[in-house]
Amino acid sequence: MEESKFATRAIWAGEKDSLAFGATQVPVVHSVSFGYEDMDEWYDVAIGKKPGHIYGRNTNPTVQAFEEKIRILENAEAATSFATGMAAISNTLGTLLYPGDRVVSIKDTYGGTNKIFTEFLPKQQVEVELCDTGDHEAIEKEVAKGCKVLYLETPTNPTVKITDLERMAKAGKAVGATVIVDNTFATPVNQQPLALGADLVIHSATKFLGGHADALGGSVCGSKELVEQIYHYREINGATLDPMAAYLLLRGMKTLKLRVDKQCDNAMAVARYLQTVDVVEDVFYPGLEGHTGHDIAKKQMSNFGGMLSFSVKGGVETVRHLLPKLKYANRAANLGSVETVVGPSRTTSHVECTPEERAAMGIPEGLIRYSAGIEDIDDLIQDLEQAFHSLPKSILVSN
Ligand SMILES: *Cc1c(COP(=O)(O)O)cnc(C)c1O
Repeated sequence: MEESKFATRAIWAGEKDSLAFGATQVPVVHSVSFGYEDMDEWYDVAIGKKPGHIYGRNTNPTVQAFEEKIRILENAEAATSFATGMAAISNTLGTLLYPGDRVVSIKDTYGGTNKIFTEFLPKQQVEVELCDTGDHEAIEKEVAKGCKVLYLETPTNPTVKITDLERMAKAGKAVGATVIVDNTFATPVNQQPLALGADLVIHSATKFLGGHADALGGSVCGSKELVEQIYHYREINGATLDPMAAYLLLRGMKTLKLRVDKQCDNAMAVARYLQTVDVVEDVFYPGLEGHTGHDIAKKQMSNFGGMLSFSVKGGVETVRHLLPKLKYANRAANLGSVETVVGPSRTTSHVECTPEERAAMGIPEGLIRYSAGIEDIDDLIQDLEQAFHSLPKSILVSN
C-alpha cells in the first residue's frame, strides 16, 4: 500500500482489517464493548498481547480504519484519533507538557489553539512564547533558549502565512524539542511535515479530510513511541472519535486528492480574479508570486491549498453588503468542505479578539476568509462578480 500513489492510497488504505462479512465498505461498528468466551484470549487482548477490541473508548474497528488511512497518507509509523481537532491538539499538548516546561509557537495559530497557549497552559505553569508568524530568526532565537515543544501551523489562519518547516524542525531538533505541525490547511495532499523533519502531524479531520462539513474529528500521526503516549492520554481522558463520524471521515477521505486538487485550482483562479477587482485592497494566497511566503510554500508544498483571504475597501460595511449576495457560498465558521465557505475573520477565526488585537495581528476588519469549494470555477467567479457589482454606489464611490 505504501508504494502506491496518493490518490490510490486515499481510496484503499487502512480498510482491509476492518472489513467483515465480505463487505467492500468499512462497517460502522456501534458496539461499545467486545466480548470474549475465552478468558485467556480476553486477557491477552486487554494487555495488548493480541490484536482486538475491548471497549469503545479505547479502540473500535471503524475508528481504527480511519486511523490507519490517515497514518498511511501521512507516511507515519503510527496514528491515533480524537473526537475533534481541538481534542487532538489539547491531548497532545497535555501528554507532552508538565509544569515548568516551555513551549515555543507562533501568534497566528488557530483560534482555539491560541486560547490553549494564552489561557490554559499558563495556569498549569507551562511557559508559552508566541513569536511573530513567519519571523524565522525570532522563532530560532526562542527555540535556542530551550523548549520541550515547538508548535507550528502552516499555512495559517486567516492570512495564510507560511513557515519554513525544514528549517524550524532543524532548530527544534537541536534543543531536543518535539516538533508538532498542524497540517489542517495544507492537507497531506500538499504537504508532508514528517518528511520535512516534524515529529508529530495534527489534523482537524473536520475540515479537508472529511470534506463534507458533516463530521467532527481529529488525528495525530508520528512515531510509535510518541503516538502510544498520546493514545494512552486520550483513552483515559476520553476524547474518543465516534464510529459514525469515523465512517463519514473515511468516506470523505476517499476523494481527498480529487477534492483538494480542484480546491487548489479554484483558490488560485479566485485569488487571481480578486487581484483585478477595484474594491479589493489585498489578496492573501501563497500561490501568488507577491505573497510573503510564496518561495517557501513552493519549496515545501506540492500545491498552495484551498484557503485564501482578501480585504476590501470600506471594511466591515463592505463585508456586510458583499457576503449576503453570494449564491454559491455558505457564510459559516467552517472550511475545507466541497461547498465554498466565506466568513469575515472578525466573526470566525478571530472572534475573541478586539479590533485593536486583530489590527496588531495584521488582520484588517474588512478581511474575508475564502475556502474554495469544488464548484465550477466559472460559476464561482461570476458569483463574486455579481456580488461586487451589486455593492451600493455609496461604497464604490467613497472608496
Ligand atoms: C478547525 C481547526 C482546528 C480545530 O478543529 P476542530 O475539529 O474544530 O476541533 C485546529 N486547527 C486548524 C488549523 C483548524 O482549522
